[in-house]
Amino acid sequence: MKPAPFQYFAPETVDEALGLLAQYGLDGKVIAGGQTLGPLLNMRMATPDVLIDINRIQALNYQRYESDGRLILGALTRQSTMEDDPRLPGAQPLIAAAEPEVAHRAIRNRGTIAGSLAHADPAAEWPGLVTALDAELVLRRHGGASRTVAAKDFFQGALTTAIEPEELLTEIRIPRWNPSSGWGFQEFNRRHGDFALAGAMVRLDVAVDGGCRDAAIALIGVEETPTRAHAAEEFLRSAKVDDAALKEAASRAAAQVTPLADIHASADYRRSLTRELVYRALTDASARATAIQ
Ligand SMILES: Cc1cc2nc3c(=O)[nH]c(=O)nc-3n(C[C@H](O)[C@H](O)[C@H](O)COP(=O)(O)OP(=O)(O)OC[C@H]3O[C@@H](n4cnc5c(N)ncnc54)[C@H](O)[C@@H]3O)c2cc1C
Repeated sequence: MKPAPFQYFAPETVDEALGLLAQYGLDGKVIAGGQTLGPLLNMRMATPDVLIDINRIQALNYQRYESDGRLILGALTRQSTMEDDPRLPGAQPLIAAAEPEVAHRAIRNRGTIAGSLAHADPAAEWPGLVTALDAELVLRRHGGASRTVAAKDFFQGALTTAIEPEELLTEIRIPRWNPSSGWGFQEFNRRHGDFALAGAMVRLDVAVDGGCRDAAIALIGVEETPTRAHAAEEFLRSAKVDDAALKEAASRAAAQVTPLADIHASADYRRSLTRELVYRALTDASARATAIQ
């Protein structure tokens, strides 16, 4: 099929793009890599009157490691740009582990990280990463107003975010990775490159005496939005990190979720995957944290 007719704009500055968004509101749609929106247009599942192509806005194409350790990404950062960044495994090991699992290389060459966040597929890796890492997302609108939204407040439902129709997601701010943390990333899908049926992203900080200093567990593909397994995190923070504690934390994560059911997997299966993937990710994170003590 071919897309329904639309007007096409290719602004070269952020201000121009924000002006178009203010002018067209709900009738306008931003296109970045087009890896999601392209098929939706072709299938006429999206029929915007106006397409605002942000690919020529060079001011949105930047990646910076700040002196305080934060990673700052402009909205035109392609998935493959981060995959190919030799600094990434040292600076943000959880992102480095998950990035190659996003779709296929051809899609990562065009697809942007901001586009993935704005689309908010429940099973996408980047929404889980920003949730696990407590990132912040910068939204700008015409007239100079901007606001910063914490990842935990950004995802509001399947394919639904805090972005207002006249706003552009311009920047992603990822806090410094704590070098004493171990990480774990586990996901399950039937074929490489498919969206995950479920996934777990973990960071774990373990003291020399085996006590847990901090734990973050994010789940993807399980509920309508990426979820933090708060019950499991709280349990771990007062536990000695051993196999029994990791198993108990995984059970608490599985008990907390209200899993999706669809043609790919039942709710029971996703709950079972949650328990197993969280346990495996915690086990990996614990081993890595212990190794760097
Ligand atoms: C076959 C296939 C397999 C895939 N598998 C995976 C997978 O396993 N894991 C995964 O995470 N993803 C997967 N994807 C999705 C892919 O990662 C996304 O398509 C891509 O990251 C979206 O980025 P984009 O730049 O192409 O966004 P676009 O398609 O251009 O836009 C997507 C949406 O975001 C909005 N948008 C884009 N940029 C902005 C912005 N700066 N501000 C506000 N709104 C914006 C658009 O209006 C649109 O609604 C898959 C896609 C395909 C086609």
